[in-house]
Amino acid sequence: MRHMLDTAQNRPALPPEIARRRTFAIISHPDAGKTTLTEKFLLFGGAIQMAGQVRAKGEARRTRSDFMQMEKDRGISVSASAMSFDYKTFRFNLVDTPGHSDFSEDTYRTLTAVDAAVMVIDGAKGVESQTRKLFEVCRLRDLPILTFCNKMDRESRDTFDIIDEIQENLAIDVTPASWPIGTGSDFIGCYDLLRDRLELIDRKDRNKVADSIEINGMDDPLLERHVPAQLLEKLREEVEMARELLPTLDPQAVLEGHMTPIWFGSAINSFGVKELMDGIGTYGPEPQIQSAEPRQIAPEETKVSGFVFKVQANMDPKHRDRVAFVRLASGHFTRGMKLTHVRTKKPMTVSAPVLFLASDRELADEGWAGDIIGIPNHGQLRIGDTLTEGEVLKVTGIPSFAPELLQGVRAGDPLKAKHLEKALMQFAEEGAAKVFKPMIGSGFIVGVVGALQFEVLGSRIELEYGLPVRFEPSQFTSARWIKGDKQAIEKFANINKQHIAYDNDGDPVYLTRLQWDIDRVERDHPEITLTATKEMM
Ligand code: GDP
Repeated sequence: MRHMLDTAQNRPALPPEIARRRTFAIISHPDAGKTTLTEKFLLFGGAIQMAGQVRAKGEARRTRSDFMQMEKDRGISVSASAMSFDYKTFRFNLVDTPGHSDFSEDTYRTLTAVDAAVMVIDGAKGVESQTRKLFEVCRLRDLPILTFCNKMDRESRDTFDIIDEIQENLAIDVTPASWPIGTGSDFIGCYDLLRDRLELIDRKDRNKVADSIEINGMDDPLLERHVPAQLLEKLREEVEMARELLPTLDPQAVLEGHMTPIWFGSAINSFGVKELMDGIGTYGPEPQIQSAEPRQIAPEETKVSGFVFKVQANMDPKHRDRVAFVRLASGHFTRGMKLTHVRTKKPMTVSAPVLFLASDRELADEGWAGDIIGIPNHGQLRIGDTLTEGEVLKVTGIPSFAPELLQGVRAGDPLKAKHLEKALMQFAEEGAAKVFKPMIGSGFIVGVVGALQFEVLGSRIELEYGLPVRFEPSQFTSARWIKGDKQAIEKFANINKQHIAYDNDGDPVYLTRLQWDIDRVERDHPEITLTATKEMM
């Protein structure tokens, strides 16, 4: 919602360094081509020399054991968590969203750090389940979305069908930025509707793109020279229909998340990718206003501020270091700057920030509003934390969601209970799971959104802490945070001890297995409320 306040009409021009930044994520269903597209972005951004370097990671996502291996190999997943590269006059910051559907909470928080999303769909499959889920998450924040319809070199669906499906399924206006010519082995390229150009595919060299051909409208005889008669007739018909029936591009509607421009292409053939990148440059918005308390933060403010949207722990198990991923919300950050950690009110000298330049982690000398920097730390920085040059500001809109699955967890060796507690707290702070300590009894209850998270957690505790753990069924299935007056909460907790636990921040939680119970508490105890989300503090 933050960008709704931020329209071209009522905002000052941003300083050029900020105005050229585009910070976005790619959302897609597995297999649609996110990895391939990322790779081509990096290739055209000059960040990698050859295609193939990002591939290993995409492939690793496919199986569980490989996924764990990838998690073990923290270096890879970290450097790919954010990637910065230049394209034409723009600086692109591409933030990776976790691949597996079980990590929707992590995904949600990642999407709080971007100003736009690129939605990749497979031209033969259209809108798939994971696309829809991720889209809904973007919609919660009215995030601008640019669409790339991939794999047009394969037999794909009718262009109008694809557009209709997105409109119907996702309830968003779709406007074609390009129009495909032919499909499958007949696919020869696209007509660029925004710039009246013909873009033809070069299948011989996948990392090269053919030159564009300027065209003077649909009647230009030049078209006949490049497009076989049969395909041209269809193209003319379809473009005429599209121009009549489909909405034209309205940049303001795109900015507000009500309209998505769609480009057609084939990532593996590097086709349509540059047009999409030009589109991100032109329509993907500049760094936006950030909602915060007690006032919002504008990117052009000279004072630096930023917030932590992700924490990755134990990148080097020997040192137990962590990297906090910070989205800069305003100002011009320079290395060595002293910032205030608002939650603890402590000063913090950021001496070794990391900028994620594609394949390597590099020390950042500077960053501007819109950039993502990594700050190595020993656990002070948590998700949702705000950093400023002294002003007490708290970035809002980074929620924690109630877990949907709960399990008890014990150390294989009972003498290691204290170690386990420490490990669990670290993972809780990283946002990898919710950890609850019941008011009575021993042991911990771990809550997650998707079942795979238990497996990943178990294997990470063993790998990173040398602690084999056992998960066991919990008598509870739901958790709700208890909000209200301190005394009222205490009183309520004391008469419901067997249902009460505390999360890793020490906040009280009501655990139950029955929705009925939650309804009853809400009815009988108007002095407190039970909530399924809490703002990260
Ligand atoms: P991800 O799971 O979304 O990251 O998808 P990948 O980028 O790993 O792609 C999934 C598969 O589709 C891989 O085998 C790619 O080689 C293939 N692929 C990606 N883009 C294209 C394309 O434009 N055309 C065709 N035919 N295949 C593609």
